[in-house]
Amino acid sequence: MAKKQFKTESKRLLDLMINSVYTNKDIFLRELISNASDALDKLHFKALTDNSGITAGDLYIRIQPDKKARTLTITDNGIGMTKEELEQNLGTIAKSGTLAFRSAMNAKDAKDAGEKPSEDKETDIIPDDGPEVIGQFGVGFYSAFMVAKKITVLSRAYGSDEAYIWTSEGLDGYTIEPAALAFHGTTVMLELKDNAGDENYDKYLETYTLRELVKKYSDYIRYPIKMEVETTRVKEHECECEHEHEEGEECTCEHEHKEPEYETVTEDQTLNSMVPLWRRNKAELKDEDYNSFYTDKFHDYEAPLMHIHSRIEGAVTYNSLLYIPASAPYNLYSKNYKRGLQLYSNGVLIMESCEDLLPEYFGFVKGLVDSPDISLNISREMLQQNRQLRAIAAGLKKKIRSELEKMLENSRSDYEKFYEAFGLSLKYGIYESYGMEAENLQELLMFRSAKEDKLITLKEYTDALMENQTEIYYACGESPEMIRSLPQYKYLIDKGCDVLMMTDNVDEFMVKMMNGYKGKPFKSITDNDVNIASEEEKKAMEAKQAENRELLDAMKAALGEKVKEVRLSARLADSPAALTSEGPLSLEMEKVLSEMPLGGNAKAERILELNPDHPVFEALRKAKDAGEAELTNYTKLLYGEALLMAGLKLDDPADFAAAVNALMIK
Ligand code: ADP
Repeated sequence: MAKKQFKTESKRLLDLMINSVYTNKDIFLRELISNASDALDKLHFKALTDNSGITAGDLYIRIQPDKKARTLTITDNGIGMTKEELEQNLGTIAKSGTLAFRSAMNAKDAKDAGEKPSEDKETDIIPDDGPEVIGQFGVGFYSAFMVAKKITVLSRAYGSDEAYIWTSEGLDGYTIEPAALAFHGTTVMLELKDNAGDENYDKYLETYTLRELVKKYSDYIRYPIKMEVETTRVKEHECECEHEHEEGEECTCEHEHKEPEYETVTEDQTLNSMVPLWRRNKAELKDEDYNSFYTDKFHDYEAPLMHIHSRIEGAVTYNSLLYIPASAPYNLYSKNYKRGLQLYSNGVLIMESCEDLLPEYFGFVKGLVDSPDISLNISREMLQQNRQLRAIAAGLKKKIRSELEKMLENSRSDYEKFYEAFGLSLKYGIYESYGMEAENLQELLMFRSAKEDKLITLKEYTDALMENQTEIYYACGESPEMIRSLPQYKYLIDKGCDVLMMTDNVDEFMVKMMNGYKGKPFKSITDNDVNIASEEEKKAMEAKQAENRELLDAMKAALGEKVKEVRLSARLADSPAALTSEGPLSLEMEKVLSEMPLGGNAKAERILELNPDHPVFEALRKAKDAGEAELTNYTKLLYGEALLMAGLKLDDPADFAAAVNALMIK
C-alpha cells in the first residue's frame, strides 16, 4: 500500500520533534496516556446513554514494555478510531493545536535569532523551555516520535467491527491498513529508537522509570493505569512440624526451618493514585493528609505552616491547594530558586512550575492549581487561556493575602514564625514594585517595637500614637542594641513615643517607597525634621541657635565640604553631638549601598548636630574664645565621634588621630 504524506505543517512539527528541539523526551508518555484517558472519557460519556452496560469501572489504560522487542505499548479500551478518524487525527495535527504550536515556535525562532518576540499578547505565557510548550498546546501524539523510530496504532472504533492499523516511521509518511482487534479501543505501539551516545531509550522499558513517569505526570488520571510488574516474594512451603499454622503465618516452633526461598511473580499493579487530594472534599481531609501530601510532593521534611485549599467556580473554575512552608529554603533569595505552582488541567500535569500564577513576593508559596479551563487539548484560543491564567493568578494573590491576614489575627505565634521566614519577601515586594504593592502588603508587615521589645504591626503602632505624635518613628541599624545607642533614640523614648527598630538592609529603602501608612508619614529618628517638639521648645531652640551663630559658622568652616550644616538640636539627650542627614539618602542607606558592589559612591548629605545642654558645648564655646586652632581641633574630634556613633568610618583617620594627640599634650 502506498505511503501517504503528512500535511506540510505536520511535517514541520514532526521534524522538530524528531530532531528533538526538546530536552524533556519523558513527556511523550504523559501525552499518550492523556489521549487514552480522553478516549475513555468519550466512551464513558457515550455509554451513559446507550444501554451498553459499560461503566467507568470497566475502563483502563495499560502500559506494556517488552524488553526483547524494545517496544512500549499503551492500550486503552476507549472509544477507538475509525479509518477516517485515524487518517484525520493522526495524519494531520489537530488544527487548533498546530496553530498554537506554530505561533509558539515562531516566537521561539524569533527569540533564538535574537529578535524580540512578537508583540502578540497570545505568546506571553509561553515559557522558554520546549517540553512545556508541547504539553500546553497538546500536540501530544507526535511527541512519541521523540523516542520511537516507528509507531503502530491499532484501533477499533466503539460500535464498529472493523479495526485498522496505522503505521509510520516518521517524516516519510504513514500507511493505514485493515486489521483485527477483538475489542474496541486503541493500542499504540512504539518501537524505541536505538540508544545513541547520551540518549538512552531503553530506560522507557524499565518498570522503575515508567512508574516514576506515571507518578509524576499522570498520577491523577481518573482511570487505572495498569502494568504487569515482576516482584519477588518468599516462596510458601509446607512446614515440617505438626502444628497447624494460619496461612501466611510464620512458624516459630523450635525445629529446623528451611532457608526461605524466593520466587518471582508477575502481578498486575495500578500505577496511579487516581483521585487527586485537591479534588476531595475538605470535610473528609485531615491536617495529616494535607501535610503528608505536602512533604511527599514538595520534598520538604518539615510540615507546612499552613495549607489553603479552595475551589473556585465562576468565570474560571479551578481547584487550588497552596502551602506556606515552615521555613525558608536556603536559596529563596537566589537566582536558582524555582518559584511557581504546578499547573494541572483536569488532573494532568501541564507545567511543573508556572511562575505566572504567583507574584514574586509570594514566591515562597508551594502548591498547585488544577483547572479544566486551562486545557491540555487545544480547542481554546490562546488569548482566552492567557486571560484565564491571569484571573487565576489574581484570585490566588488575594486569597493568600487574606489567609495571611487571618493567621496574623488568629494565631499570632504562627504568623511571627511565618514572618521570620518570609517577611523579607514581602518587604522586597514593596520595594521592588516602587511602592505599588504597599497597599496590598502593608498590613502584613511587622517591626520590632522599641517600647515593647516584640514584633508589632503598623496598625498596632499607629493605634498607640502619643497625643501630639503625627509621625511613625523608625530607626535603622544593625541590631536593636545599635539602635538603642543612637543619640536621638533616648529623646523620643523620653517623650513617650515608640520607635520601630529596623534591622534588615531593605527596610529603609522600602519605607521610602511607601507613602506613609494611613496618612502618617514615616520618619527616621535621625532625620533632622522630626516633628515632636512643642512650640515653646522650638522657639527656645531657635533663640539659642541665633545666640550661637558665630560658633556654628566657625565649626562649619572648619569642616568645609564634609557637612552641609552645623546646628543645635534638642534631641540629643546624653550625647554631645550626632550626625543626621538631609535629602533622599540617609546615613543608614549610605552604609547599605557602600557594602554593595556597585553602590560605593552614594553619599548622604551630612549635618552635624550639637547638644547645647551638654558640658561639651560649653567647652566648645571656650575653645572658640581660645582661638581658631583649638576650635578646629575640637570640631574634628566631635565630627569623628559622631561618625563612629552612627556606625560610619572616619573620613580621615590620620587627621582624627592628630586631633586626639593635640588634646592629650595640651
Ligand atoms: P490532541 O490530543 O491534542 O487532540 P493528538 O495529536 O495527541 O492531539 O491527538 C490527535 C487526535 O487523535 C486526538 O484528538 C484524538 O481524537 C485522536 N486520538 C489520539 N489518541 C487516541 C486514542 N488512544 N484513542 C482515540 N483517539 C485518539
